[in-house]
Amino acid sequence: MAKAYLNQCIGKYLKGEMGPTDAAILKLMLTEMQCDIANDCLQLFGGYGYTIEYPVSRFFVDARVQTIYAGTSEIMKEVIARSMLGK
Ligand SMILES: Cc1cc2nc3c(=O)[nH]c(=O)nc-3n(C[C@H](O)[C@H](O)[C@H](O)COP(=O)(O)OP(=O)(O)OC[C@H]3O[C@@H](n4cnc5c(N)ncnc54)[C@H](O)[C@@H]3O)c2cc1C
Repeated sequence: MAKAYLNQCIGKYLKGEMGPTDAAILKLMLTEMQCDIANDCLQLFGGYGYTIEYPVSRFFVDARVQTIYAGTSEIMKEVIARSMLGK
């Protein structure tokens, strides 16, 4: 689903039709999904997953910041909500 939406947005972007709401939906969906997946992967490694000796801890940290920078998930939700409410 995420890949289909990403491809749709790339198509819109190339035609100059991608708007801020599309970008907010895409960022929210993909970065939250990345976090969930990295979290599951870390869990799979157990205690080793937490230690810096294993790359999965780095993947987790790198995934976690995606929902913060370039606009947090909460701000993405606000952008989406405003577009739905017309405000
Ligand atoms: C590694 C890294 C690199 C960065 N690089 C850049 C860069 O190159 N250029 C740049 O300009 N900035 C950069 N930033 C800054 C980044 O964009 C901000 O950290 C981000 O926008 C969040 O702002 P803040 O840290 O001030 O958090 P705050 O705005 O203080 O937010 C704190 C918490 O409150 C929540 N919150 C805030 N307002 C609302 C609201 N209205 N409704 C609900 N919840 C809300 C947020 O979602 C968050 O959970 C970077 C940050 C990091 C961590």
